[in-house]
Amino acid sequence: MQRWNSLVSLLIITALVASPIIPIFETSYSLIPHPVVRSDSLEFNGTRAFAYLEAQCAFGPRPPGSDNLTRCGNYVISTLETLGWPVEQQNWTHMGTPLRNIIAGAADLPRIVLLAHYDTRPRADNEPDPINQSQHILGANDGGSGTAALLELAAVLPDTAKNSVVLLFVDAEDSGGINGWEWIVGSTYYVNSLIVNQVAMIEAAILLDMMGDADLQLKREGSSTPNLVDNLWETAANLGYDNLFQNIPGYTLVDDHRPFLQAGIPAVDIIDFDYPYWHTLEDTPDKCSPDSLEAVGRVVEQFVQEQLDSPLTFRNPLGWWIVIGSASLVCLVVIVVLYIRFRRSKHTM
Ligand SMILES: [Zn+2]
Repeated sequence: MQRWNSLVSLLIITALVASPIIPIFETSYSLIPHPVVRSDSLEFNGTRAFAYLEAQCAFGPRPPGSDNLTRCGNYVISTLETLGWPVEQQNWTHMGTPLRNIIAGAADLPRIVLLAHYDTRPRADNEPDPINQSQHILGANDGGSGTAALLELAAVLPDTAKNSVVLLFVDAEDSGGINGWEWIVGSTYYVNSLIVNQVAMIEAAILLDMMGDADLQLKREGSSTPNLVDNLWETAANLGYDNLFQNIPGYTLVDDHRPFLQAGIPAVDIIDFDYPYWHTLEDTPDKCSPDSLEAVGRVVEQFVQEQLDSPLTFRNPLGWWIVIGSASLVCLVVIVVLYIRFRRSKHTM
């Protein structure tokens, strides 16, 4: 009996030790081969997207709860509806401020979520002169670019996308650290509103944030799902954008993709965080370019078409190993307890 117990314990301990190591080999994420696609088959238009960016900036700075943001949100909704997308709104109050997420497309049955924050930071923290730091930023790139790209995607994605893609415009990403506010309030609210089936259904969440600057350099954001990043960066390389989508590690950021990751949904943050005008009054349309919007927009357009045609899974098998590891641990504890009881009962006999 003692030998049998020791053997079982040894096997379980081996499994426990091996379980975190095995996924490292399993998820080495070799790049998935893609057909080379001629970019003229894609329709995302950078000039049109840039006009959406300028239109947002024409409302002025757009901090949460402001009239400017309300008017900008209404503009986003009317643009989406004109393009034939069904639109829902999530309205709630946070820290006494009314907030609104805008959800276009397959709100009930989302397979792919494309998202951006449409609010702008209420404070220009990175201005060198303290007097300017209390001013609102215009957010041409930080807020404006991702929102503009989503609106142009609404125009070019096939009609079938409306049944399986969600275009999500989240509020209150960018007020973190001001008057007790957290970051990523709107995206957190959205993910918390999903039911279990919807969480399981979402194959990928793609966040577009600060991807419109003229000197665009996109590095792999550190917390993003690696094989989803691989897929997008490979798509970019096939479209000739490997100079912009650089296959090197970038920053690890708290951004609107995080609530998705925490829910177990594969997610990626496409962001150029080396933007010198970040959170300054200089974040204006002249620092952005139609070419940058077009490059990222076309990569996402291509990704969505491929994913809808032949879905790939980006979920990390590590989750299963955590389940197996936990179950093994419970078994081990039970066996140890039974063994100790068995020994004691033998002694008392
Ligand atoms: Zn920001």
